Amino acid sequence: MGRIPLPRSRTRDEPPPTGPAPRVIILGAGMSGLCAAIRLRGIGVRDITILERSDGVGGTWRDNHYPGSGCDVPSHLYSYSFAPNPNWTRKFSPQHEILAYFERIADEYGLRPSCRFGVEVTEARFDETDNVWRIETAEHGEFVAEVFIAATGQLNRPYIPDLPGLDRFEGTAFHSARWNHDHDLTGERVGVVGTGASAIQFVPHVAREAAALTLFQRSPNWVAPKPDRAFTRWELTAFRRVPGLAKAYRFSIYARFEMRFNMMMQRSWMRPLLSKMFVKELSKLVSERIPRAAVIPDYPLGCKRILISDDWYPAILAPTTTIELDPIAEVVPDGIVTASGTHHQLDTIIFGTGFQTTKFLTPITVMGRGGTDLHETWSKGASAHLGMTVSGFPNLFILYGPNTNLGHNSIIFMTERQVDHVVACVERLWRSGADRIEVRPEVMAASDAEIQRRAERTVWVASCDSWYKNEAGRLTNNWPAHTYEFWRLAAKDPTEDYELITTPS
Ligand code: NAP
Repeated sequence: MGRIPLPRSRTRDEPPPTGPAPRVIILGAGMSGLCAAIRLRGIGVRDITILERSDGVGGTWRDNHYPGSGCDVPSHLYSYSFAPNPNWTRKFSPQHEILAYFERIADEYGLRPSCRFGVEVTEARFDETDNVWRIETAEHGEFVAEVFIAATGQLNRPYIPDLPGLDRFEGTAFHSARWNHDHDLTGERVGVVGTGASAIQFVPHVAREAAALTLFQRSPNWVAPKPDRAFTRWELTAFRRVPGLAKAYRFSIYARFEMRFNMMMQRSWMRPLLSKMFVKELSKLVSERIPRAAVIPDYPLGCKRILISDDWYPAILAPTTTIELDPIAEVVPDGIVTASGTHHQLDTIIFGTGFQTTKFLTPITVMGRGGTDLHETWSKGASAHLGMTVSGFPNLFILYGPNTNLGHNSIIFMTERQVDHVVACVERLWRSGADRIEVRPEVMAASDAEIQRRAERTVWVASCDSWYKNEAGRLTNNWPAHTYEFWRLAAKDPTEDYELITTPS
């Protein structure tokens, strides 16, 4: 695969650092945490500890092993630019190949010795006397470092709605991100609550096994065909042997996907055309059994993630599948009862209800300077300078934090840009010999105001419920611009935007 990239220094004209490199604690061994560790090693930071709750690397790709799990971004783009993989077997790889990629990365870059698995962080507190972050864990005591990088992502805490009676259900129930592979669905009556990005991947598999499948759907998705196929032997050989081919292919996907951002704008010229085409095709599915409201969304295209699948519609059209649009009233010991009183008898309930996305870093207590609680600071909605740094929280960096998710391109591209920025800040801290690096409050406020101003122009603030917004309707999760604009901003020398502080010893 790749080799350790050369250090990328933004401060080559300055003298090399004299003091010891800061110690770094990274929370999470997923895609962002691994990337940060690799790149920090590249500038000579050696004391890196990665704290990971689960028993291995891979983050979301470790958790989401439900049948049919895979990525809806082509693999040549959904991989690190510095570690291309010419061996992806398909355009859109399945979960096990993506997980294997990150496991291989961890091995090839020698990251496993830095990982502490099975460690649950409960609290992170900035110690102003020693200028270090003190990280408390549930069972493994305290870890201490000058720099704390939270790389837990936006999709790590499964959300199960608090349905009345759920605790009395006598069958089996589980969330898609905690799939129970020991439980055989063959011949069962299965209910699936939620029909989002994960459900459209596992439902076709469940439909094949279950005797009867009921989908409890609140709102349908815009689902486009999936242009997936296996690479041919010749293509795989060419990716391995022709210099620059995999890179050029990656760039072509990036450029094509970047154009899709137009669809995320309220004044998009693309969206009305595409919506019309979608509605024309989807109308053909409407029948006595499949009402229009089951397949044609009543919210604008792009307001929620546009999904891709070739087996979703065949699964919902199967004679053994029922789409229930009536809201769930309660769970009873043998099934689910809807608002109008229909009783669906079920052996198993699967929740494809997504994740707790807007309360970043919960349930971890994060205390900054002067005992400031990060969750109180974020009580009206999470925000950070470029999604990464928060005034009042020195030497803290968040990866895949507020307003860094995308609806149109690869999140790994965003992660690499964030890691560039973090590396530049850590390098600046180290070279300067200062104790703290902290984003200036006016920079953070301006950055947030600009994000919210731009958010108003996107389709995400239109009238649909989505995990991109908090209860108050504030866009907390998505980056409301092209990714190259994020690239430009994140690549800026941090000198102006950050304060370097040396405290009296
Ligand atoms: P999701 O797309 O947000 O879908 C959640 C589903 O649960 C929606 O259908 C939602 O209905 C429903 N729901 C939520 N609360 C409910 C309640 N109280 N009662 C009934 N239904 C309820 O979540 P997800 O499928 O886990 O995917 C989350 C994100 O993960 C995606 O957007 C994507 O970014 C990522 N993901 C990516 C891939 C990939 O291929 N890259 C695959 C899977 C997931 P409403 O729509 O009406 O709210």
